[in-house]
Amino acid sequence: MSDVVIVGAGVIGTSTAYALLQRGVTDITILERNTVAAGGTGKSAGIVRCHYGVTSVAALALASLEFFENAKEILGADIGFEQVGYLVGVGAENREPFTASVKHQQSLGVPTEFIDHDAVRELWPTAYLDDFDTFCWEPRGGYGDGYATAQGFAAYLRDHGVTIRQGAEVVEVLTEGTRATGVKLADGEIVPAGTVILAGGPWVPALTTPLGIDVPIDPILNEQVLINPGMNLGASPVFSDLVSRQDVQMRKGELLFGYSDASRLIKSVSNLDDYPGHASHEALEAVAEKAVHRFPGIENPQVVSTFTGVFDSTPDQNYIISGTDYDGLFLETGMSGHGFKTSPAIGKLAAELILDGDTTIPNVTASDFRLSRFAEGDLLTSPFPYKGASGIR
Ligand SMILES: Cc1cc2nc3c(=O)[nH]c(=O)nc-3n(C[C@H](O)[C@H](O)[C@H](O)COP(=O)(O)OP(=O)(O)OC[C@H]3O[C@@H](n4cnc5c(N)ncnc54)[C@H](O)[C@@H]3O)c2cc1C
Repeated sequence: MSDVVIVGAGVIGTSTAYALLQRGVTDITILERNTVAAGGTGKSAGIVRCHYGVTSVAALALASLEFFENAKEILGADIGFEQVGYLVGVGAENREPFTASVKHQQSLGVPTEFIDHDAVRELWPTAYLDDFDTFCWEPRGGYGDGYATAQGFAAYLRDHGVTIRQGAEVVEVLTEGTRATGVKLADGEIVPAGTVILAGGPWVPALTTPLGIDVPIDPILNEQVLINPGMNLGASPVFSDLVSRQDVQMRKGELLFGYSDASRLIKSVSNLDDYPGHASHEALEAVAEKAVHRFPGIENPQVVSTFTGVFDSTPDQNYIISGTDYDGLFLETGMSGHGFKTSPAIGKLAAELILDGDTTIPNVTASDFRLSRFAEGDLLTSPFPYKGASGIR
């Protein structure tokens, strides 16, 4: 019998175990059907920023920054965080919500400031900037490494007595009346637990549906493309380009392109264990077109590689961090493609909700992430929605 069983060893499961450990919970078992970071975590583009219109999400991102900055001291491992800064650019159609959102973020303490075209030209000298209206700059943003972060948590957890079982697939959550009592593994083994936490990303509904719990998650394919610019572009910050609707980051001299285009985030994955591992021809063409438009100074761009991953998307593109109708059954899923940057604070939020029923994280309203909001029709959306960009901003 473990006090706590966590299903899933991505950044969310491992950061939650870390946060519980900090609170004195030591009897923790993590069950992972594959290997640590084998899910969305190992595919993550790893962008770290606080630019969100939803107060609780911006506040979770802000609360996570300190962890990324000090991870080496905290975990004793290099988790690959590169604080290159984070830049957002919008066109005139988004000036109003963008300005309001940035001012709101500033009121929460997010280190973000408006900057002009000349300043951006220094950060990204090869970029075409004339079709942007306004920019903001987060000097404490950047990118991290999902795989290294989850492995860093896992190594720390093992050193501190947490059991991590890989190749341990949970096939059923066990209940007695309205209480969760443990889980059953694929080989029939029963693992009893006081508390069961489902941090299995897009696989969670397979475990909750038999219990009559509707967890509305659409598994959406996300395609990423790595391009060799054929020239030395120097160091550049992560750039969310809301005119061309793309995220661009410099990875060791190569450019990583991802989408922030609402109209493209539409391909549901029918089999979570068997979906295309590379970007489609259509995606490559779109990236090429956008890259040439945005970076006309790049002379010989070449596609180096592509990869894909799955977003566990909810109807409002926001997290589910929530208890259920079953005592002792807690959900952490629906990260909707933006769970890496907030993972340290999500772990803390979950630990506080389980142990105390509320959170101490400044400006986070824990009930914002409750599962019941979907049935209530009370979706968690930004008061400053951007035209064309996906709902996560
Ligand atoms: C291509 C891509 C780009 C991204 N870019 C960014 C970004 O720039 N910034 C950002 O903040 N976020 C980004 N994200 C999102 C972020 O990476 C994810 O939200 C985060 O990693 C999710 O972590 P997780 O632990 O919830 O899920 P996962 O990493 O999917 O982990 C869930 C784990 O649970 C295991 N599991 C599932 N079911 C079971 C079961 N029944 N029994 C045992 N184990 C089980 C799985 O094997 C898996 O390892 C991106 C995601 C993708 C795919």
